[in-house]
Amino acid sequence: MLVHETRTGIGVSGGSAAGPVVQVAPPAAPPKDEPAPADVDAAIQHVLESFEAVAVELDTRAAGADEHAAPILTANAMMARDVGLHGAATDRLKAGDGPATAIKNAVEAYAAQFEALGGYFAERVADLRDVGARAVAAALGLPAPGVPPLTEPSVIVALDLAPADTATLDRELAIAIVTQAGGRTSHTAILAAQRGIPAVVQVPDATSIEPGTFVAVDGDAGEVAIDPDPALLEAQRVRREKRAAALATSTGPGLTADGHAVPLLANIGGVADAEEAGPQDLEGVGLFRTEFVFLSATVAPTLEEQTDIYTKVFAPFEGRRVVVRTLDAGADKPLAFADLGEEENPALGRRGLRLSQALPDLLDTQLKALAAAANATGADARVMAPMVATVDEAEWFASRVRAAGLKKAGVMIEVPAAALRSEHVLENVDFASIGTNDLAQYTMATDRMAGELSELLDPWQPAVIDVVAAACAGGAVHDVPVGVCGESAGDPLLALVLVGLGVASLSMAPSKVPAVRLALSLHTLEECRELARIARSARTAQDAHEAVRAAAKDALTEIL
Ligand code: PEP
Ligand code: MG
Repeated sequence: MLVHETRTGIGVSGGSAAGPVVQVAPPAAPPKDEPAPADVDAAIQHVLESFEAVAVELDTRAAGADEHAAPILTANAMMARDVGLHGAATDRLKAGDGPATAIKNAVEAYAAQFEALGGYFAERVADLRDVGARAVAAALGLPAPGVPPLTEPSVIVALDLAPADTATLDRELAIAIVTQAGGRTSHTAILAAQRGIPAVVQVPDATSIEPGTFVAVDGDAGEVAIDPDPALLEAQRVRREKRAAALATSTGPGLTADGHAVPLLANIGGVADAEEAGPQDLEGVGLFRTEFVFLSATVAPTLEEQTDIYTKVFAPFEGRRVVVRTLDAGADKPLAFADLGEEENPALGRRGLRLSQALPDLLDTQLKALAAAANATGADARVMAPMVATVDEAEWFASRVRAAGLKKAGVMIEVPAAALRSEHVLENVDFASIGTNDLAQYTMATDRMAGELSELLDPWQPAVIDVVAAACAGGAVHDVPVGVCGESAGDPLLALVLVGLGVASLSMAPSKVPAVRLALSLHTLEECRELARIARSARTAQDAHEAVRAAAKDALTEIL
């Protein structure tokens, strides 16, 4: 291992933290064409021992888990000891499967039966597959897949992390995230920022860092220092303090230096986020990503379940706005219960509103639940659709929202077509919110998951800024407020540019609000407009970023 080495990636969630590395093992697949066992009896013994090893590990974890996790882990250990599953694996071995293949095939056959039974059984399929993946790894002598149980504050290092893994990390113990792959607007990056966990993606050879190595992660600079110098740790501590002192002075509603109001709102992904954001100094919610609530659900949530969840989300925002986005399923956020089958290019396929149009009952149930939750609380609920491209889509959605008894219907602008034609797309809706993550992906024809193309996805790309300007201009024709809820809203310098372009509100991970509020308070609206002109006249993303940084107030740039 190299000492005092720093690896540079892309910082996607700010802040810094230092601790020992815990590596997340990728799921192990049975080898292709795994040979049939030479000694079937020995192979049966090996497979049974692999299942038992999984069961013992799950029991051990259950013993140390809280009251929510323990029963789940115990139930999973019982699955690993299920004689029916053992019998199915034994039959596969006798039929000529190798040990890992036999486990995988037996589990898949069981999963299909569970799915067919529906209800409680269907909900256990994800657990069953997890038990299977662990048994396959055990049979192959590989580490168990997924995030291992954390026993001390640790830096989580992975090739990439699934959004569901990021969402369930214990944030007291997962102090930073480092991935070798991943993009700046991947949903894993967003969840990390959401949860206030410093994160750096695209770190070269991250998976080769030995477990237990002490590293310092700087989510602002995008750096991971391996076995860092004490001086670096001290410098990080000093910067953390200076920034905290500057931000402590930033309170109240979002206002430019000359008093132009720009509501600062939270992006949230569920009840826990809402309860945490509710008491914070922000003006409401600008994006509730409802699909985040259901990432692990195997069956569609009922009307009652949804009403209960949305009521809990709205309750902390009595008297404030809560902008809810209907399910944005598909692409990198597949929902098991809203799956229309494989697609060649899921980001260009039936995701977001397109999927809702194919499954209108799912949308209507969600709208009904939202209306009930809005009535039960004093929150100012507004509902918008993801991935709107045309006037017809916008109007179809708005009519369904209003038919459900909800008062304000909006659309997200994240497809360039909707931005370019926003004058017409927004004519019959109440508000719009620009999703700069997807807008960058579709404007630059660059998969937001493709971390190696991150430069093209830079939200400072002048073309993306031009498309945002077009969206604002269309909204202005009908006085329809156009906000931004993509990651760029949380970048203090870019936020100034957005306001200069005419953006009416900014929604971001709550942890990013204070720096954006400070940025606004230091610049007048006219200065924001000048920064927008500077950004738009630049030829490259880097030039735009540097020129705006140079023109912004020192009191801001010295803490960024
Ligand atoms: C966006 O695309 O910018 C957005 C806010 O939606 P999501 O990141 O969830 O796709
Ligand atoms: Mg989007």
